Amino acid sequence: MISRVIPRVIPYGRQDIRGEDMAAVAAVLHSDWLTQGPAVPRFEEAVAARCGARHAVAANSATSALHLACMSLDLGPGDHLWTTPNTFVASANCGRYCGATVDFVDIDRDSLNLDPAALAAKLERAGKAGKLPKVVVAVDFAGQSCDMAAIRALADRYGFRVIEDASHAIGGRYQARPIGAGRYADITVFSFHPVKIITTGEGGMALCNDAALADHMARLRSHGICRDAAIQAAEGPWYYEQTELGFNYRMTDMQAALGLSQLARLDEYVAARRRLADRYDHLLAGLPLRTPWRDLQADSAWHLYVIRLEDAVLAKPGRRAVFEHLRAAGIGVNVHYIPVHLQPDYRRLGFARGDYPVAEDYYARTITLPLHPGLSDADQDRVVAELREALA
Ligand SMILES: *Cc1c(COP(=O)(O)O)cnc(C)c1O
Repeated sequence: MISRVIPRVIPYGRQDIRGEDMAAVAAVLHSDWLTQGPAVPRFEEAVAARCGARHAVAANSATSALHLACMSLDLGPGDHLWTTPNTFVASANCGRYCGATVDFVDIDRDSLNLDPAALAAKLERAGKAGKLPKVVVAVDFAGQSCDMAAIRALADRYGFRVIEDASHAIGGRYQARPIGAGRYADITVFSFHPVKIITTGEGGMALCNDAALADHMARLRSHGICRDAAIQAAEGPWYYEQTELGFNYRMTDMQAALGLSQLARLDEYVAARRRLADRYDHLLAGLPLRTPWRDLQADSAWHLYVIRLEDAVLAKPGRRAVFEHLRAAGIGVNVHYIPVHLQPDYRRLGFARGDYPVAEDYYARTITLPLHPGLSDADQDRVVAELREALA
């Protein structure tokens, strides 16, 4: 008999589901409400309290929450939305759902987040051309906060609104406050996809401190329908009105119960990720690569651990060979991100290679190493040993 040893695959990200999570979901399944019940507001209140925000609106994904955020900020045809090219496509697509024109601002070489200096320069040019953005989506790449104070200063000067796409960053901190507190952003969005910090399967949430924005997002999440007492008084208790075109972007109660149960372990998860990130920094010292930059103003939630290969490695054996060696060895490496403007659907809009050179250079040399709370030290040692071999 032939036996082959297939190495167990170490994924780059993975959810952590425990007995208490299953019990919480099962309790909802036994209850009267699978959706539109009490679990969703409970989860919203818990996330808002944890992050120091006044309001939270749950949605069936962060993509939906970003769309709700853009709609509530009245983004529409003729308006401009700017974001970073170093993100998942959803950070840009939300502008296009509203019919707005999407454009990008290059990233900072160290933080890999939207560069406030590049933003300032582009705003000055756009101001002269009469094409200032209505919304800027700042993405906390890998869980590391953007320079939100600098972005807010520019927002106040040029009159745009700020959406913080914190899909990677729940549990992180900026200037000693939780991400989501909304000191600088008008709306902050989290994702609860299974690879993110906490999960609801699919799911997202928009946080803000403005009751009118929160009410508007909640209404748009459910078809643009209003059923408050004042409206019902005229006709009767069955009555509702669609006052504008909305969507069905609701989160279910099963998802909210899972999220609430996961939220109790948020600090534990971020601490585990931080410990592993520190350990990677230590284990990778001396190799021909750059480990992630550390920001003294912010504590990353460590969604991703991204390395940057040095020029010599790019020349030989090349990023692709290193990546393929790791994948063949059962290491579930990934690449974050292919610059959004290089996607065919964005090139069709006129974007081209060379438009955002810092993001493109970063993309050409990056690999995402496995990082999640279930990653054991032994697994991490195996990742590093294989990486060493690939680089040799
Ligand atoms: C994952 C992600 C999203 C989309 O999240 P979903 O919940 O899958 O819709 C948006 N922006 C960024 C930066 C992400 O990483």
